[in-house]
Amino acid sequence: MIYKRSSALFAQAEKVIPGGVNSPVRAFKGVGGTPIFVKEAKGAYLYDEDGNRLIDYINSWGPMILGHAYKPVVNAVIEKAKKGTSFGMPTEIETEIAELAVSMVPNIDKIRFVNSGTEACMSAIRLARGFSGKDKIIKFAGCYHGHSDSFLIEAGSGASTFGTPNSPGVTKGTAKDTLLARYNDIENVTQVIEANKNEIACIIIEPVAGNMGCIPPKKGFLQALRALCDANQILLVFDEVMTGFRLAKGACQELFGVHADIVCFGKVIGGGLPVGAFAARSEIMNYLAPQGPVYQAGTLSGNPLAMAAGLAMLTALDNDADVFKRLEDKTAYLHKGMAKALNENNIEHTINRIGSMISVHFSKDEVVDFETAAKGNNEIFKKFFHGMLKAGVYIAPSAFETWFLTDALSYQDLDFTIAAIADVAKTL
Ligand SMILES: *Cc1c(COP(=O)(O)O)cnc(C)c1O
Repeated sequence: MIYKRSSALFAQAEKVIPGGVNSPVRAFKGVGGTPIFVKEAKGAYLYDEDGNRLIDYINSWGPMILGHAYKPVVNAVIEKAKKGTSFGMPTEIETEIAELAVSMVPNIDKIRFVNSGTEACMSAIRLARGFSGKDKIIKFAGCYHGHSDSFLIEAGSGASTFGTPNSPGVTKGTAKDTLLARYNDIENVTQVIEANKNEIACIIIEPVAGNMGCIPPKKGFLQALRALCDANQILLVFDEVMTGFRLAKGACQELFGVHADIVCFGKVIGGGLPVGAFAARSEIMNYLAPQGPVYQAGTLSGNPLAMAAGLAMLTALDNDADVFKRLEDKTAYLHKGMAKALNENNIEHTINRIGSMISVHFSKDEVVDFETAAKGNNEIFKKFFHGMLKAGVYIAPSAFETWFLTDALSYQDLDFTIAAIADVAKTL
């Protein structure tokens, strides 16, 4: 495939946009080469500026769960746009989508809409701090909660010591309130809590991790976290920006039967427009301004176009009793085909999958946390990525990303993908 026009567009972009992109992971730094510029997309396919067709396994990093240019979403946005695009005043559709979200997700009474997953997580921990009157938070190494200061923290010398910022611009003062723990390691979380008794406002976690590849929680891990939180008056925050409305209607709370105190959403909830949200029971949500003292606001929050897209998306998912099963079946089919192709070519690998999230790590060891995820062979991944791209299959340009399947994928698309994996595997 030829990428002449994409390369030229990237060179032009680099002159006026830092690194040529508006979000770093798009820049192909992890795999080399220059990013592909998209012209349009429909269903399971991307069409790039050089006229190539690619089967898409990123799907805007999750939102396009029913495929690109999904008719009901597109139509809802067009109809709304004709009536004005923003008012800064309440609109009925905000209540409609709030009612639907609250009806689909267990254990939440109220929801506040924002413009991104970053905003949702940032606001959720402010609310947790305001509600609990405590300052510290625990996050897990390898979990991503957006780019706000409190979350850009790495482990330092030990999980119970203060974190150090991993981006210039994050102050030591902010970093000292973020404690790190190891994913899937309840002993470690217990130690961090013990070392910081009565100081921890919340634990924030991706209940299925998706930002170090796909890492499901070990059996009982989330239940144990819930128990630890209850015993220590700590709020449990599920960051379901990735998993929300993807793994089940009620997402991980439903899937694992574990209640969270605050839940964050993004990606699917906006149907491809910039939307995030956070939700909780009334007692907690009533702490938010204007009802309560914790301030949070947004000029474009609850924007009518974004709400129309989100409402059309959630309505489609709510009305389709089989959608999550269909997605899971397609992903299981891909899993089986990929494992066979890699095994036949003696490529050491580990595939993790849950529902429509799947990832492959080129390492023979079990992948359960950031440390084990980082053991994957990145040179093999790079070759794999570029081989798949050449074959017309677009996977995320980083070994630490999950693949997100869309219901628009046909079994022919999956067979094509598996055949491409088999071909590429011969070259690894
Ligand atoms: C994508 C993501 C975010 C950040 O959402 P943005 O809309 O990119 O700001 C937060 N948490 C998780 C789990 C994510 O996957």
